[in-house]
Amino acid sequence: MRYFYFLIVFILVACKSALVSDVSKNSDAIFTYKVDESSVNETLKTLSSNEMQGREAGTAGINKAADYLIERLKEYNVKPYFKTYRDTLTNFKGTTFNIVGVIEGNDPILKEEFIILGAHYDHIGIAKEGIDGDFINNGANDDASGVTAVAELAKYFGTHKTNKRSVLIAFFTAEETGLLGSFHLADKLKKSNFNLYTMLNFEMIGVPMTADYTAYITGFSKSNMAAKINEYSGTKLVGYLPMEFQYQLFLRSDNYPFYQEFNVPSQTVCTFDFTNFDYYHHVKDEFEVMDIPHMTNFIQDILPVVEKMTNSKSKEIKLK
Ligand SMILES: [Zn+2]
Repeated sequence: MRYFYFLIVFILVACKSALVSDVSKNSDAIFTYKVDESSVNETLKTLSSNEMQGREAGTAGINKAADYLIERLKEYNVKPYFKTYRDTLTNFKGTTFNIVGVIEGNDPILKEEFIILGAHYDHIGIAKEGIDGDFINNGANDDASGVTAVAELAKYFGTHKTNKRSVLIAFFTAEETGLLGSFHLADKLKKSNFNLYTMLNFEMIGVPMTADYTAYITGFSKSNMAAKINEYSGTKLVGYLPMEFQYQLFLRSDNYPFYQEFNVPSQTVCTFDFTNFDYYHHVKDEFEVMDIPHMTNFIQDILPVVEKMTNSKSKEIKLK
């Protein structure tokens, strides 16, 4: 009986070390995939075109953006998470929807845990007062740039399937009317016992900041997210911007409802630092003033980081 007990312990230890070595093997792999700058350019240009009429939630313009994003997800082999890609809001006057896709994890156990990658695809629509005859708030930086980053991540994971955890791709609507899309989705997922590991949201990454890091994260001190991102990256990819705390940016984008509902690290990465872009909620927030090489480099740098997030041991990223 005693020998039997020792045998069980031995098997358990052997299984555990096999699991650990498997995890580290994957995260040490050399990352050779290259983000295609022309693809970044194309997505950003389309979403911020005049045809989309400023992508105000509930209008025909944003619905064109939705159609475009759904086509991209299909092309990238990202499946709808619900019955269709459209997740219609129950907290909005009128009709508008998030676009939600999933890339199922390739590990039988870890696939039950999810990482949400999000960005809002709505903006503020048509301006009451134009400038030089331009009335369309194209919202290239806010937040077609973040949507473009998430679309590139969807493309990579959808076509490579390297993620052990499942990845939920969420393009939110009605962020500009009070985070309505993300509040709706967080509530709905919570009610279905969704197992959320962490949420990473992308906001205004279209222009570079002057700092010894590329981007800052909101709610810096709430978790070890920044430290883990830099560890996975091997560089100082993200840092702390005092203004994010001063302006409480953690509460002001689509990461927040997921933090509130699930009490897990849910944060926004951003490269808008209040000094590097004059056109916040302005008709001149247009494709032409975006820095495509900067965006491409940032997406290139964050991609292997997100891959490591999907494949790391449980609870590596945690609240403080
Ligand atoms: Zn925004």
